[in-house]
Amino acid sequence: MKTETNNKKTSKKDVKLPKKLVYFFGGGKAEGNESMKNLLGGKGANLAEMAGHPDLRLPVPPGFTIITDVCTYYWANNRKYPPQLKEEVEKNLRRVEQLTGKKFGDPKNPLLVSVRSGARKSMPGMMETILNVGLTTKTIPGLIELTKNPRFVWDAYRRLIMMYADVVMEKAEGIEPEDDMGIRKQLDRMLEEKKKEKGVENDTDLTAEDLQELSEKFKEKIKQVLGKEFPDDHNKQLWGAIGAVFASWNGKRAVAYRRIEGIPDDWGTAVNVQTMVFGNMGNDSATGVAFTRNPATGENKFYGEFLLNAQGEDVVAGIRTPNPINDESKNEHSKNLPTLKELMPDVYKQLEDIRRRLEKHYRDMLDIEFTIEKGKLYMLQCRVGKRNGFAAVRMALDMLKEKLITKEEAVMRVSPAQLDELLHPILDPKDEATKKPIAKGLPAGPGGAVGRIVLTANDAVEWTKRGEKVILVREETNPEDIEGMRASEGILTARGGMTSHAALVARGWGKCCIVGASAVLIDLKNKKIKIGEKEFKEGDWITLNGAKGNVYEGQVKMLSAGENQMLKDFLKLCNDIRKLGVRTNADTPEDSAKAREFGAEGIGLFRIEHMFYGKNSEEPLFKLRKMIVSKTKEERVKALNELFPYMKNDIKETLKVMKGLPVTIRLIDPPLHEFVPHSEDKLKALAKDLGISFEELNERAKSLMESNPMMGHRGVRLGITYPEITEMQVRAIFEASAELIKEGIKVYPEIMIPVVSHEKEVEFVLPIIKRVYDEVIKKTGVKKIDYKVGTMIEIPRACLIAGKLAQTMDFFSFGTNDLTQMGFGYSRDDAGVFLKEYIEKKILPADPFQTIDQEGIGEFIKITVERGRAVRKDLKIGICGEQGGDPASVEFCHNAGLNYVSCSPFRVPIAILAAAQAQVKEKSKKK
Ligand code: ADP
Ligand code: MG
Ligand code: MG
Repeated sequence: MKTETNNKKTSKKDVKLPKKLVYFFGGGKAEGNESMKNLLGGKGANLAEMAGHPDLRLPVPPGFTIITDVCTYYWANNRKYPPQLKEEVEKNLRRVEQLTGKKFGDPKNPLLVSVRSGARKSMPGMMETILNVGLTTKTIPGLIELTKNPRFVWDAYRRLIMMYADVVMEKAEGIEPEDDMGIRKQLDRMLEEKKKEKGVENDTDLTAEDLQELSEKFKEKIKQVLGKEFPDDHNKQLWGAIGAVFASWNGKRAVAYRRIEGIPDDWGTAVNVQTMVFGNMGNDSATGVAFTRNPATGENKFYGEFLLNAQGEDVVAGIRTPNPINDESKNEHSKNLPTLKELMPDVYKQLEDIRRRLEKHYRDMLDIEFTIEKGKLYMLQCRVGKRNGFAAVRMALDMLKEKLITKEEAVMRVSPAQLDELLHPILDPKDEATKKPIAKGLPAGPGGAVGRIVLTANDAVEWTKRGEKVILVREETNPEDIEGMRASEGILTARGGMTSHAALVARGWGKCCIVGASAVLIDLKNKKIKIGEKEFKEGDWITLNGAKGNVYEGQVKMLSAGENQMLKDFLKLCNDIRKLGVRTNADTPEDSAKAREFGAEGIGLFRIEHMFYGKNSEEPLFKLRKMIVSKTKEERVKALNELFPYMKNDIKETLKVMKGLPVTIRLIDPPLHEFVPHSEDKLKALAKDLGISFEELNERAKSLMESNPMMGHRGVRLGITYPEITEMQVRAIFEASAELIKEGIKVYPEIMIPVVSHEKEVEFVLPIIKRVYDEVIKKTGVKKIDYKVGTMIEIPRACLIAGKLAQTMDFFSFGTNDLTQMGFGYSRDDAGVFLKEYIEKKILPADPFQTIDQEGIGEFIKITVERGRAVRKDLKIGICGEQGGDPASVEFCHNAGLNYVSCSPFRVPIAILAAAQAQVKEKSKKK
């Protein structure tokens, strides 16, 4: 279905092909390089870099890359290739033949190739690769003769048949049989049967004869199931494989993955055709994957796994338990297996050396694939490695210390989402210490997770929709599971290692994950799992500690991540760089303290009315209601006087926590009717206290109803119709401040007037503030209170008259929630209904209430800054809407010249990072 829309979008004339469609690499040279990812895909660009860069020139088997544009062309032209492609491919194939001394399709000395996908961004396991292309009944005897290793040749052949049938003959043809009826699964089962028949455990124990027999049976099966012959011609195989890789770009899994990761459909994949090297030639051969540093902890330790006598994806697929490359890479399952360092010390040394050179060259942690053919090491892939948030922060700090990267680079190395992981909940160690793990696996994703067991990806999605928290428990995951993995709190698999699909994906998302917990036995049919003697049903609670790999029964208590030295060090780095201030939106002393701990430099929004919500709000709320339904000034002043001590106390406590830092206190804002009680007994109590009849009270309450409260009698408008309300609030602020000053505490209150649209409004309020200030100074005897008065900018008209407002105001603060509401004309309370569809249908790129709409609302902001500062150069300008913690919005605010952003306490570190990154980006642009 998706393919169709894709086809339509890229109509023929859209695809303009460059002249050169194929790029060569090998023999110490390469036509491409690392910077050409858009053209060559990540894999192709890095193969070129490793093969051809003078600092590297690593042992990369020669090959060539067909550029991504050809994929786009292919889909736009009814799955046809550009006419000149064939010739270019052949020309490059000849170059490979020259370098290797082998010939593609030659019966005596045949060249075999792999055909590998590779998009701009890595899409783990989403697309296809086919190995051993070129093995036919014509080339097999020659290769046996040449290698004197029939077992190897038949092993390579049966692998080719399996991959080719699956990828080219089935998936690329759009055939999607039920889960375990795919051709690959069917052939896998035949392999299993053969092993059983022979009484052996591993595929490596099968003989040449076994494998030959199996290959013949495979071909029969393919004919029977797919109704087609497995091609016995090397060129047919090659072009079939190339086409299948392009086709895999629009495979179901790849499309789903792109949706989640936000990868555009029109990027396309490149195809890499590369000389095969063989890790399956015996016990002096192997294949493996490694990270130049530990991707789970960030430690500067080489970390990897390998399998002897194996090919390609055996390691990732987890068909055997992989060996560790060194002691540092050992885990529960592999601790007794020999390491590469022990088995092939020379090769290990070379690999270590390559690790060092690669890190120095790329100045980052890399994820590498290697193969050893009869004791000779080859590099098959490298890319900047995925890592979780903890590891990202640690590596950034370490690499800075090692002088591998600069301060600025260190700051750019951690994404806001990764930093977010460090702020995420973990298991409460105290509670955890009282529990015994029921199973252990590998720690593959950070933090802790509590949820109910589900056994399929579909259930994970369904249950989550119902509001349940779930842990997805699987034998192992595959790319079809990703939506379910995304929906789950955490992922637990019974099989697989640190490089398994589940581990790779979870690490990329920063999701709690444990893999290879082999004690977990899954009974999908009866929706149960068994761990040891215990049985758990679907829906039972379990807890994961993704940092330790421990699984617990029931719900273990969770803790917020809180203070962490690494986080502090990293934020300090960001603070040294950033120019934009970061404050917090906080209404309580607790929130304020938390934000301060995270580095907030003040409060950008303290909403006075918060005291009328939640805990301990009963009494002040009652007084407020009295005030609201008052009819006369006398009644109102009386109620306000009763309210006063609550308000003063509340303000005082927060000012105290924030001592030495500015606190912006917004005068009361929300629509009044929100506070009118609805229940009869509450109304009666209120009537009694006011000494009026129930009917009278009802009358008054009714008169407060507005048909458009968001644009009604609120904010500064209240302060103008009832100046005594402003007066009481301001008095509370000044008296609280004065009392603290007397206690020797430095306070910097900033009074903020909301919902302003006309300069006359603030000109009306200002004299009241001045008068009350004088009165408080006189009454308390303090010399002075360092205060400011500013206005919220949340109505488009206010933006346009910013110059006039700046004449009297010390600061502006953008209330981007309301500014977005009124700028778009979207009611915040009602927009949910259509906004979702607006985003799905791509009318809007994102929810403007979450990330500033830079083109429209952003323009209001720019105009305001310009007009305001033209009148008053030192005008302080900030933002206090929800968007203040959104990284893209933070960057926008930095560029717009704001002084600070303000966001909820837990977003403070994110905003600090985003502000530092905005500064680095600005500087590098100027260069
Ligand atoms: P993916 O993008 O899914 O990792 P790859 O293209 O890297 O797919 O290939 C899958 C596996 O096949 C990897 O383990 C890789 O090392 C191996 N492989 C690919 N090309 C060759 C080759 N020319 N010789 C030997 N092994 C290869
Ligand atoms: Mg790979
Ligand atoms: Mg507002």
